[in-house]
Amino acid sequence: MNLRHLEMRLERLAGFERPTARLEQYQTPAPVAARLLHHAAMQGAIEGRAVCDLGCGTGVLACGAALLGASWVVGIEIDPAAIDVARRNADLLGVDIDFIVADIRDPGVDWSALTCDTVVMNPPFGAQKAHADRPFIDRALDVAGEVYGIFNEGSTPFVAAYTDGRATIEEIVRCAFPMRRTFAHHRKERVDITVEIIHLRRI
Ligand code: SAH
Repeated sequence: MNLRHLEMRLERLAGFERPTARLEQYQTPAPVAARLLHHAAMQGAIEGRAVCDLGCGTGVLACGAALLGASWVVGIEIDPAAIDVARRNADLLGVDIDFIVADIRDPGVDWSALTCDTVVMNPPFGAQKAHADRPFIDRALDVAGEVYGIFNEGSTPFVAAYTDGRATIEEIVRCAFPMRRTFAHHRKERVDITVEIIHLRRI
């Protein structure tokens, strides 16, 4: 499936019903999700692989990974209402995904037992709570050896320093991220920001 075709399939998916600002519930735009997944797929990280979507929200990345032939896809999300949307989205596309309601910060879970090949994620950018992406980076490296995450523009030096000795940065893909008005504090109808899709490889 080519990039455009994948994007078109993901474009049809339902969004959050009542997005929560505190959790930074912002659906990954289809072009950005398709870009990340296509990039990972070209590197052999999706087809036939066990893929985990951390903070899967409405399941866009999880669904795309399944469409691209992942052997197993699991989506983890703290908000059960978002998981309901994600399940409906998976049904709409006819893909099989395991969804788990969990807080990725929960120390009571043996996360490394989840053994996946690849993590795909669009963690909170830390707009509401500084460094909200840190636990996601930690968890991702517990779960898989290859991590593809979407971060705010300019995050690379922080991610490099934060993962020093644990992972290497393989490449960074810059990409436009259209943000539609979602929360009351958003003033404009639409703002285009730039994000960095960072590929980390566990050492
Ligand atoms: N890729 C998703 C959206 C990501 S937004 C989509 O396209 O819908 C970030 C997501 O992380 C939100 O759904 C939010 O509820 C979830 N989240 C935030 N903190 C979390 C935590 N501690 N554990 C699990 N999920 C969390």
